[in-house]
Amino acid sequence: MINIKNIVRPNIIELQPYSSARDEFNSKDGIFLDANENPFGSLNRYPDPYQKELKQELANKKEVDTNAIFVGNGSDEVIDLAFRIFCRPGIDKALTFSPTYGMYDVSASINNIALLKIPLNKDFQFDMNMVSPYLNDKSIKLIFICSPNNPSGNLMDKSDIEFILNNFNGIVIIDEAYIDFAEKESLINLISKYNNLVISQTFSKAWGLAAARVGIAYANKEIISFYNKVKPPYNVSELSQKAAIKALKNYSSYQENLKIILKEKKQLKNNLLELDLVKKIYPSDANFLLIEVDNADKIYTFLVSKQIITRNRNKQVSNCIRISVGTSEENQKLITALKNIL
Ligand SMILES: *Cc1c(COP(=O)(O)O)cnc(C)c1O
Repeated sequence: MINIKNIVRPNIIELQPYSSARDEFNSKDGIFLDANENPFGSLNRYPDPYQKELKQELANKKEVDTNAIFVGNGSDEVIDLAFRIFCRPGIDKALTFSPTYGMYDVSASINNIALLKIPLNKDFQFDMNMVSPYLNDKSIKLIFICSPNNPSGNLMDKSDIEFILNNFNGIVIIDEAYIDFAEKESLINLISKYNNLVISQTFSKAWGLAAARVGIAYANKEIISFYNKVKPPYNVSELSQKAAIKALKNYSSYQENLKIILKEKKQLKNNLLELDLVKKIYPSDANFLLIEVDNADKIYTFLVSKQIITRNRNKQVSNCIRISVGTSEENQKLITALKNIL
């Protein structure tokens, strides 16, 4: 067991959190004259600051305690709050791997935290000889592991992740934004074994709610209590909470869409492999494919001219383009365009 309080910024330990009207009186019944709300309208009341109904649905689905759940304004908030809870600006550091999701870097910079980046190997897995020495560095408070990794698409090796968890005394955040598409299970069960582990998931990808901005952190209740202390009081809107609850209750439609996306992904991969300009398709446990082509800049620009927008990752992975799996029709249009490239 790690002493979490030793990792938390001293000013956050001392922080007196904002006490909202709904913190001070929490019941659905009564005449509410306490929050300076407008008595008229349908969105006139502040939302539940702790998203209790949504957390109950998530708790049932994921088989975790409601107090092991934080709901954020997208995963972006889960990431940003981690820096604000654990890293002293200009002093502490964080660590991640490259190539990976760009928000860790941006969020670190905003918070004035140095982010160290260890290159992944050619299969986009950890090079543990490079990683190990950093695990004893006391100035590193956070490690971000993206699994499945964006932009490569692969799951990270589970035994390497457990090695990191067993040998690092800071906080480990595993970003599982794409886990619903993966062949292997989430590592969410490990939160009861490692009290320094945060599992981050989102409604933005497999749940189809990117516009609602709902991200989730699962962790030991002590870490969650610090998230609750630091978050803006009403960080997830009523509309977004309702949208997420509705999606969870409509599980069969989530499953159907997931099945279609995975089937389309297989089809897209087969069609891409038949094209001479595709040199390689990296194995993917996500809803996108990273493909290596002969000239990424040229192909990206050509596709834009055909109003097909992919993500040019040439700067991160030489001559690679990341393609999200679309509808059957969208994917077919992409393939047709690529067949007609000059
Ligand atoms: C898309 C994505 C997210 C989702 O972020 P939200 O803020 O929840 O929309 C998180 N992590 C990674 C690696 C992603 O690619």
